[in-house]
Amino acid sequence: MIDPFGRTISYLRVSVTDRCDLRCVYCMAEDMTFLPKRDLLTLEELDRVCSAFVELGVRKLRITGGEPLVRRDIMTLFHSLGRHLKTGKLDELALTTNGTQLAKFAGALVDAGVKRVNVSLDTLDPGRFRTITRWGDHARVMNGIQAAKDAGLKIKINAVALRDVNDDEFNDMVAWCGREGFDLVFIETMPMGDIDGDRTDQYLPLSLVRARLAEKWSLEPIPDNTGGPARYTRCRETGGRVGFITPLTHNFCESCNRVRLTCTGTLFMCLGQEDAADLRTPLRRAESDAPLSAAIHEAISRKPKGHDFVIDRRHKRPSVGRHMSVTGG
Ligand code: SAM
Ligand code: SF4
Repeated sequence: MIDPFGRTISYLRVSVTDRCDLRCVYCMAEDMTFLPKRDLLTLEELDRVCSAFVELGVRKLRITGGEPLVRRDIMTLFHSLGRHLKTGKLDELALTTNGTQLAKFAGALVDAGVKRVNVSLDTLDPGRFRTITRWGDHARVMNGIQAAKDAGLKIKINAVALRDVNDDEFNDMVAWCGREGFDLVFIETMPMGDIDGDRTDQYLPLSLVRARLAEKWSLEPIPDNTGGPARYTRCRETGGRVGFITPLTHNFCESCNRVRLTCTGTLFMCLGQEDAADLRTPLRRAESDAPLSAAIHEAISRKPKGHDFVIDRRHKRPSVGRHMSVTGG
């Protein structure tokens, strides 16, 4: 699949639920209204859509949410998608999770063919973790991370950089990830969805984070070929990789290789745009995948050149109305 700007689409991210067992302050309001369960694609339907994308050339699938591991029977989907790894049609089946259920599922994920997981963790301090997630249990996530490591999964920690919230512990996080053998990626807050607060207060440009880290660590840029917005460095002192995702700069759109599917079967061609395609109707129209494949091709032909994110004091509204938990980041 090649879009109008010559980009090959080889990566699908799938949000399998909009629900979550946490309420991170930058991601959700405390009182969220979730989709009625009947609106969700079934696990069989999610498998069908993902498999159609694989047939059309997608080489990497990432399961995300909401919190993907709170969806009932989710391991069934991982196991069925794992068959594409065995045939060689798929290079990677990955997961982004908040880690609360990892202790329970790490072994099953490995059995399904998952090799790496991204775990979101913004702080090493239990009290702070509770504040950021509104009620999360830090020890539970740390146990989950340990279980994933013990099961042989490669781990990448995603940390959202929040002004005056966690910006005094980034050195500690670099050191901890270095010791544990985890990659660490810092993320800038993105203006998505209403969140009971003002995002300009949270926003911390990663240029500043990187400059502060450079006072303590030697961060050497390394090439990155994921086609994503992360820019990677190697920390000479720890040997670990430290990445920076700066969604508000445009410099990654030209190499964007991904599209995003929601749990209701809506395909977003860009994280930062409202335009979307309905795949649920063609999916349910026929047993054959022909209408679905046609709808996917039509959607890819509309993939926009880049996003329209803006965070500043004149734009108090989110530039994209849906929450990150709808498309999974
Ligand atoms: N629940 C899982 C988790 O937390 O990893 C998967 C879904 S979560 C929406 C995916 C990633 O998006 C997390 O790393 C989270 O920190 C990030 N995220 C959520 N809202 C964000 C926002 N407004 N700006 C930047 N990153 C955000
Ligand atoms: Fe849940 Fe992940 Fe959003 Fe936090 S970032 S509220 S864990 S979906």
